Amino acid sequence: MKPIRIGLVGIGKIARDQHIPALRADRAFDLAACASRNADVDGARNYRSIEAMLDGEPDLEAVAICTPPQFHFDAARLALGRGKHVFLEKPPCATTAELDALATLARAAGRTLFQSWHSRYAAAVEPARRWLAGKTVRAGRIVWKEDVRHWHPGQTWIWEAGGFGIFDPGINAISILTAILPEHVRVARAHFLVPSNCAAPIAAEIDFEAASGAAIRAEMDFRHTGVQTWDIDVETDGDTLKLSNGGADMAVNGERVAVAQSAGEYPLLYRRFASLAADGASDVDVVPFQLVADAFLVARHTSVEPFE
Ligand code: NAP
Repeated sequence: MKPIRIGLVGIGKIARDQHIPALRADRAFDLAACASRNADVDGARNYRSIEAMLDGEPDLEAVAICTPPQFHFDAARLALGRGKHVFLEKPPCATTAELDALATLARAAGRTLFQSWHSRYAAAVEPARRWLAGKTVRAGRIVWKEDVRHWHPGQTWIWEAGGFGIFDPGINAISILTAILPEHVRVARAHFLVPSNCAAPIAAEIDFEAASGAAIRAEMDFRHTGVQTWDIDVETDGDTLKLSNGGADMAVNGERVAVAQSAGEYPLLYRRFASLAADGASDVDVVPFQLVADAFLVARHTSVEPFE
């Protein structure tokens, strides 16, 4: 089959760490072009804006959007409007209405919108979902603590309005939780710590409540140095599940459970994108994004020391 000619928008950390290697290793894709204001990619034709790329590459079939979330909507709308399939990084947009509008646009255009949740492709997530199916959840705990200076060096957009702050990684935990739990959750309470010079939280505590009434407590913190923690624990009426390392590893009652080796989150995401594009189908799940938006609606805010 002919490879899908794809253009990448926003050449930063995730484009270089994951998208470019995954695309170069996948024969279903031809990375033809890139659009970034300040960066070039060897072996692709480079443009300074998505508009210039779409004008210069009429044969492009797909676009992957890797800019900060504040700029996803305009880029995705433009690409769908020009008849391209769109791969959208997480968090999908700045607002939930934007995502809804993109899904509608993709349907009307008969094009694919793949609104990706990369953490759902971590090796132990699907095994955990299968393990939890049919079980009664009693309680849960998310601990998502990382050092922002290490993982997001110089990314000022994260602290601006619409930049999500700690929810930039924290939404990954929620995307896993909502994939593995056999029931819906809602946000009961939230407390955000917001640096006095920032528009987005540096840490958050969220109390989720599952449909059955089970309490799930999330603690997220961007100020964490030392051992980095991306864990989800779920207590059922019999056993306790632990997902660690962002969904890569799984244990039951403290005993490690072997899971099948994964091809990697981004190779799997691109496999999924190719299959959706072949079928003209979309994959959009607003639930993790809605829960983050709900946390922003109900949160109590405490101002903390400035982030430099
Ligand atoms: P990043 O390193 O800041 O890269 C984003 C790139 O987008 C920038 O290098 C910039 O390139 C371009 N851009 C276009 N308009 C921009 C604007 N107005 N302000 C700032 N940059 C702009 O960010 P990233 O870590 O790659 O994250 C990008 C997206 O991927 C986010 O939605 C993030 O949540 C998601 N993601 C990141 C990771 C990760 O580990 N970093 C993992 C999974 C998903 P030019 O200056 O050349 O235009």
